[in-house]
Amino acid sequence: LELGVIGLIGDPVAHSLSPAFQQAAFDALGLPIRYELWETPADAFPERLQRIRAGAALGANVTVPHKERAFGAMDTVSDVARRIGAVNTVVRRGQSLHGDNTDAHGFVVPLLERGIALGDVHAVVVGAGGAARAVIVALLTAGARQVTVVNRTAERAERLATELDDARLRARPMTALDTLAPEAGLLVNATALGWADHDAPVTAEVMHMWAADALAYDLTYRDTPFLRLARAAGLETLDGLGMLVHQGARSFALWTNQAAPVDLMWQAAIAARAMRGG
Ligand code: NAP
Repeated sequence: LELGVIGLIGDPVAHSLSPAFQQAAFDALGLPIRYELWETPADAFPERLQRIRAGAALGANVTVPHKERAFGAMDTVSDVARRIGAVNTVVRRGQSLHGDNTDAHGFVVPLLERGIALGDVHAVVVGAGGAARAVIVALLTAGARQVTVVNRTAERAERLATELDDARLRARPMTALDTLAPEAGLLVNATALGWADHDAPVTAEVMHMWAADALAYDLTYRDTPFLRLARAAGLETLDGLGMLVHQGARSFALWTNQAAPVDLMWQAAIAARAMRGG
């Protein structure tokens, strides 16, 4: 068998846990595929895709800041990628590139595993970037009763709600978080703030207004100030490692046409995160 290559396109990429759990999965199934990190500044992005098209790789993952640009550069895209407007998984089909988005799937699986009935949920999503968009599409597709998006830059939340155009989705100012708290069962941190050690997008005061059975879900795959505040207020919490593993498992299946060894990927991700000290 010929050695295949798959890489992560982003800037930066050095922090990524994807090589650890993707390589473990390829190796466990005996697939001769190597997962590489491809740090790609904006001006090198077109050439990177061109090389894949020419046959240098089987596909790729795409991360910050290239997901939206990748969407525009594909030959074909999946329905969910079109709805989100971003691509995190590229599959080469002959000499053409197919784009998909597995973030929405990755976000939902850990909720289903907790037995959370998304059809009945009112979710509040903090953040209006690419990850928030994938989360909101996932929640609406899963049948959520109401999704409210709030963001530091209010206009960005409003634009997102207008673009996604669904009667169950609305934008509210950040200052509305306290009035939203008693109504909502799921609070998602989809901001990039999880990587900062001292700041949370929600104050301790607001966190205490949330119902005791509400779930606080941070997309960041580490313990964050947001999750610590949520625990202190007595809420259930979930970090982003499950989302990361499940988006990766779906990408694995798209590249290989084989079921991903999810448990093994999960163990590899936990080990890699522990080594990082995260
Ligand atoms: P992005 O497009 O750059 O969006 C960043 C978001 O964070 C924006 O809503 C931004 O608000 C907000 N933000 C940044 N700094 C802030 C601050 N100091 N105070 C308040 N809000 C702030 O990033 P993204 O791609 O959506 O990613 C967001 C997070 O999700 C990252 O931490 C990423 O690691 C994580 N993620 C995890 C997974 C996973 O599999 N677990 C997958 C995807 C993403 P403004 O609009 O006001 O700037």
